Formats: sequence, structure tokens, C-alpha cells
Amino acid sequence: MVQGRLGQWIGGNEVFGGAETFEVIAPATEERLGVAEVASREAVDAAVRAAAEAQERWGALAARERARAIERLADRLEERLEELASLEASDTGKPLSLARSLDIPRSVLNFRFFADYVATLGTEAFATDDVAINYALRRPLGVVGLISPWNLPLLLLTWKVAPAIAAGNGVVAKPAELTPLTAYELGRAAVEAGLPAGLINVVNGFGPASTGEHLVAHPGVAGISLTGETTTGQAVMANAAKTLKRLSFELGGKNPVLVFADCNLDEAIETTVRSSFVNQGEVCLCGSRIYVEEPIYDVFVERLVERARSLRVGDPFDPETDMGALISAEHRERVQGFVERAVDDGARVLVGGGRPAHLERGYYFEPTVLVDVKPRCEIVTEEVFGPVVTVEPFREEAEAVRLANDTRYGLAATVWTENLSRAHRVARQLEAGIVWVNTWFLRDLRTPFGGMKDSGIGREGGVHSFEFYTELTNVCIRVGEAQ
Ligand code: NAD
Repeated sequence: MVQGRLGQWIGGNEVFGGAETFEVIAPATEERLGVAEVASREAVDAAVRAAAEAQERWGALAARERARAIERLADRLEERLEELASLEASDTGKPLSLARSLDIPRSVLNFRFFADYVATLGTEAFATDDVAINYALRRPLGVVGLISPWNLPLLLLTWKVAPAIAAGNGVVAKPAELTPLTAYELGRAAVEAGLPAGLINVVNGFGPASTGEHLVAHPGVAGISLTGETTTGQAVMANAAKTLKRLSFELGGKNPVLVFADCNLDEAIETTVRSSFVNQGEVCLCGSRIYVEEPIYDVFVERLVERARSLRVGDPFDPETDMGALISAEHRERVQGFVERAVDDGARVLVGGGRPAHLERGYYFEPTVLVDVKPRCEIVTEEVFGPVVTVEPFREEAEAVRLANDTRYGLAATVWTENLSRAHRVARQLEAGIVWVNTWFLRDLRTPFGGMKDSGIGREGGVHSFEFYTELTNVCIRVGEAQ
């Protein structure tokens, strides 16, 4: 940002001159951090051209050379960890301690992981009896458009950028308009680390009728990876149809947590507090519908409420803070609206429900636990994307599975039980891309990540990311007699 103004990061340079701008606001203070220029259709076009040019040389490098350069980028981000964590905390309102321990280290790891992975990546080969041999050649797609949300800005963007460039592609990234700061710094760090100018371009702006839409429609972009809302996935898919792009979508969730009476209760409580309220509940993987087996329902609710009440909400830069501010005034209002309508519909608020009394400024919201919710009412069907959970009792395993699957989403689910057979049985029946048993948010980057139903299309992670970011050509060579 030059004197509080953010341009575009194109061809290895900051590019200014956009006529339209938007404000970058710190959610915790409501102060203006700067203004950002909106990338016009022409600016998006310049970014795609820069990416295509850089990609030609980059894609021709040996995988190990690309891996080495990506490692240097990881080093550069690591050197700037404190600065990046601080930018992320200002821009999102999340606790600095979280940005320092999660967002930035995981961003660094994304680059290291995919650098390692590409260096050893193979493809498949099949000998067709004694007639032919087949092998698959892997090549980059070309230029890919990467569109990310505001909740884990650098982490989720690097989850796309790292495999995309490891596979040999050029990138045009469009961060969420609410959180543009760290993506811009990624563009800068890439140049500092010696990656080709233009390999990673960053364009700022809105989605519909703006930068995002231009990027998706651009004929020079071969694939779009989007993390965002389900409705955004629908709009992007419709727009991408005209140029028949490859798509990967990581979308919304309404994730169930199933707590069986035979669980380790202390661990279930502690992890459920985290899966409900970490990052202010603004994580797509957060568990928001908690189902507890009847014998332990009362004690579980009592302890969850007690722990929720003990969380300290406030200044993201205070080391004692557990929860910061929500992303925007509009989002805070939206979360408030969900809670009010749930109460109108008969739900009871056991803790939280609104703005913390001691915080007049900033888009803060208390950790909130609701009970007595009606079946299929809005608060149990719609994604709130805030620190709000519902708790309901269940009687038996089959009922728990039915309740868990009674949603249009299918991103993640968590099961708490000490019964191994039950864990396997339930995991097999849950309609979710990820099932955690006796843990949450534990990630091995080799595993498939993504959602079913309205939570997404495709999987990323490990080889799945390379399946998305590369084209395969099967080469079939006759080795036997002519047929
Ligand atoms: P969003 O869909 O509003 O925005 C995401 C990105 O898409 C932004 O960069 C936005 O500008 C862009 N965009 C919006 N409309 C577009 C269009 N028509 N064309 C092109 N680009 C467009 O989502 P958000 O509010 O930033 O993030 C919250 C949502 O993201 C939640 O639904 C959450 O569940 C989801 N999310 C999912 C995952 C996952 O891995 N499944 C991870 C994090 C967040």
C-alpha cells in the first residue's frame, strides 16, 4: 500500500490508475486502513496477459527448479511473519495470536508442502498386455483465476496459489474486497523471492459486475478455483459456462457435531468450544449444529455455556483476547438478525446473543449458544458464519445421523465417541467431505479437501490439487505387432 492506497499487482509491479475505489476498514476499530482501487476489465486483461507471459517460461522449468523457487517464497513469507500477521489481524479483526499461530504459518506451509509434492509427483502408466504401453503426461493448464474469501485471507489464497504455481501455471488472484492486504503482499513477496514477475498477479475489486466477474469471463483463463458462498459458486458457474472453464468450488457449510454419551467429555467440550468460536466462528469448517446424546445433554450444555461465557472478546492485538470482531457492520447485523429470528421462533439464548456490553465500537458479537430450536427452522438450516451454535439432544445413533445429514450442505462433520465401531459406522453414513473423529481442524495436506452437496465441487489437497491444476495427455505407444 502506497500512502494508504492499494492498486493492482500486475507483472511484478504496483499498478495505479483505477477510477473506482473502495475503503479498507479495520473491523475492530471501524477505522479506515486505506483505499483500494477496483481492477477494471482492462486491468484484469493486463493481469491475465502478464500471467500468460510469465507462465511460458515458468511452466517449462523442471519441477525441482520450480520447487526451489517456491521454497524461497515460503522463506520470504516466514521472514515477514510478524508483519503479515499484524496486517491480517487489522484487516479481518481476528486475534493477532491466531494470525500468528494459524493464518501465516499455514500459508508458509502451503508453499513448502506443494513444493515438496511437485518434486516427487508422478503420473500413471499402463502396459496393455503385450500390445501397447500408455503413460500420462501432465502439463499446466496455463493461467488460472483464484478467488478467495475474507475469513482466512492469506491461508485460503495460498492453498490455491501454491499448487497452481507448483504445477507450472500463472496466476491471477482476486482476494475478497473486505480483506485485500495480505494478498497484495504475497505478490510483492513473490517478486522479492525471485519468482518471475507476472507469475502471481493480484487484482482487487468486487465480485458481481466487477473484477471477479471479469476474471471468470476472461477467455485467457483456463480454470477458476473459488472459495466462497454457495450462491457465488452458482454465479461463477453460470458465467464460466460461456468459456467452458474448469472449476473447483469450496463453498458454504452447516457442519454437524455429534456427541455420543461414551465420548471423552472433557476433550469434546474443549474442542467444541474451539470448533464453535475460533476466528469468531468465521471458518467454513466450524461446527454450528451440535447434537448431544440425551444422557449427557444437560451436563454438556452447562459446560459449553460456562466455557463460552469465559471467552474474552475484544481487541485483536491484546494477547489475552480469544475472539476478535466480525468482518463488517453488515455481517454483524446479519448474525444478529439470525439470532433474533431464532428467538422469535421459540429458541432460547443461554449465553451471548448480541454485542458485548464493554465494546461500543467495532463489529463485535458475543459467543452465542441457542437451545430449544424448532426442527428445520432457519437457524439450523442456514449458514450463519459467526459465533453462534445450536445444541439439540438425540436418543439414538440413527437419529443423530439423520439429523446430521438433514441439510443441503456437506462440508465437514465431527463425531465424538470412544466406540471404534460406531466411529467407523457413523463416518461412513455422514454426507460430508471431511469427517473428524475425536478431533477437529486436524489437517494433513495430502488428504482430499472439499464438500459434497451444496458445499462444493471437486477436491483439493495433495494429488487432488494437481488433478485440478494440470491437464493430462495419455500417450499410447504400440509395442506389439501392427493390428
Ligand atoms: P463470497 O462468496 O461473498 O466471496 C468470495 C469471493 O468471491 C470474494 O473474493 C468475492 O469478491 C468473490 N465473488 C463474489 N461474487 C462473485 C462473482 N459473481 N464472480 C466472481 N467472484 C465473485 O464469500 P465470503 O463472504 O467472502 O466468504 C464466506 C463464505 O465462504 C462462507 O459461505 C463460507 O462458508 C465460505 N467458505 C468456504 C470454505 C471452504 O473451504 N469450503 C472456506 C472458507 C469460506
